[in-house]
Order: sequence, then C-alpha cells, then structure tokens
Amino acid sequence: MQIVSSIAAIQRLARKWRRAGTRIGFVPTMGYLHAGHLSLVKRARQAVGKNGKVVVSIYVNPTQFAPTEDLSKYPRDLKRDLKLLRELNVDAVFTPSDAEMYPNKTENGYSTYVVEEKLSQPMEGASRPTHFRGVTTVVAKLFNIVLPDVAVFGQKDFQQAVVVKRMVADLYFPVQILVAPTLREREGLAMSSRNKYLTGDLRRQATILWRAIQTAQAAVKKSKIISAAKLKADLKTLVESEPAAKLDYVEFFEPETLSSVSKISRGSQIALAVFIGKTRLIDNAKL
Ligand code: AMP
Repeated sequence: MQIVSSIAAIQRLARKWRRAGTRIGFVPTMGYLHAGHLSLVKRARQAVGKNGKVVVSIYVNPTQFAPTEDLSKYPRDLKRDLKLLRELNVDAVFTPSDAEMYPNKTENGYSTYVVEEKLSQPMEGASRPTHFRGVTTVVAKLFNIVLPDVAVFGQKDFQQAVVVKRMVADLYFPVQILVAPTLREREGLAMSSRNKYLTGDLRRQATILWRAIQTAQAAVKKSKIISAAKLKADLKTLVESEPAAKLDYVEFFEPETLSSVSKISRGSQIALAVFIGKTRLIDNAKL
C-alpha cells in the first residue's frame, strides 16, 4: 500500500494506472475510520475488481468547517487508519497537508471554490452555511488529483451525496458516483467518527436519532399519509425527551430533489440533525 502526501506523486500514479487501462475506485474520508468507511472501501473494490486500484484519501478539510466548529479537535489516528486500510488491500492512501491542498491560502493567494447553488441550500446548508462550498471544492480537487473512474460516498451524509452527484453532472466530471448504505451500531446509532465525543450516558442518548427515524417509519406504515408539520412537532418532543439532546432540524423531503413535503408518504425521506451535548449528529432514512 502506497502512502502518498504529494499531489504530483498521486496524480502521476493515477495517470500511470489510467494509461494501462486500470480502473480507479476512490473513497474520500476525513479519517478516524470505522466500519462504515470500510464498507465504502469494499464497495470501491467490488466496483473496480481485483485488477483495479482502490485509493482512499484521509484529509480533514478545513474549508467545510465553520470557525465555531470542531476542526481542531476532530479525531485523528492515522496509524490505526493505515493498518485498517492495509488489511483491505487498498492500493494507495492519499494524506495531503493543508498547504498541499490549499496552497498560499494563509497569504490570500488561494481564491477558487466550487459552489452548488440549489441542493446545498436546505438542511445542512441552512445550519452550516459554508459547509457544502467546502465539500464540493475539496471533492472537485480530489477528483482532479486522484482521477477516479468511480467514487463511493455514504448514504449517512445523504444531502452530501446528492450535492456531489449534481456537481458531477453539472461539471461533467468523468466519474461514476456510488452511494453505499449507512452502517449502524447494534442499538441503531449511525457509525460516525464524531461518536468518539459521546462519553458516558451521551452514547445512549444519541440513539434518539435512530429512535426518531423508527417512530417516523412506524407512523407512515400506520397512516399511509401524514402531516409533516405534526410529525415534526412530535419528533422534536421525542428527541428532546433526552436531557442532553437539542433538535437542530428534522425535515421530510423528496429524495431526488430534496424539496420538502407537507404530506409524508412511503418513499419520502427523513433527515435530522441533533446536538447531543456539544456533539452535532446527523442521520436519515427512507420512510
Ligand atoms: P467522513 O470521514 O465523515 O467525511 O466520511 C467519509 C465517507 O464515509 C462519506 O462518504 C460518508 O458518508 C461515509 N460514511 C460516514 N459514516 C458512515 C456510515 N455509518 N455508514 C456508511 N458510510 C458512512
């Protein structure tokens, strides 16, 4: 497994592979890997086959964090990450520095960003106004660096996958986007690097996101069509019955367009963001 931190070196490797007709599968991550990430790596391997190459990037991208967010304390354990990726026969890990990804940014010598203007507006975009600009920018850069044929994203970040797909379509990136299912802990908590912050009873309280999703699924099963406003109010009460939980948003929407629905029915998507103490968690599912 090659560990590469220079853009020139990974691009050279990717060009060599492509010249030989080898398919490249790519999984972008921020590291502190869990089984959810590893499932994306396996999906990438499946997509490119045993003769293909799988590249994983580990980069905590500063431009997708607001100044008030957890950039500096985001969990990191590169040694462990590399061990896990080696066990999956990953071909190359790209671990760039900030100076490599955003040259001259601190001297105001960096000024190009990629912005999706519609699908990035609601939900995560409303709560974290600069977040998706950072995501689309870094993903566009990584695609130009790694030159993948296929890239795998997680359903866990549902809106992110939709926004990335739109960017790829609008800008004609020659890459196929695959979206893989959310892996959960036994009690339903979606796996996330941020779960590391959930100490003591907070871990149990965090299962309220999954319990809220299950409550919505049961409601749709029972009544077929229900009012989004009513269910939102009920779920807010449910979520905030946990002492450390504060609902940021819960939305019901059409999964392709992200347009919110006032009447929820089978096939509608639910997404929610909840603070558990200081930790902000997100989750989503189809109803
Ligand atoms: P992150 O390191 O949080 O930026 O995530 C990297 C990729 O892993 C993204 O495409 C996420 O959607 C995906 N991912 C994160 N958590 C999970 C999970 N529990 N199951 C599946 N994929 C996930």
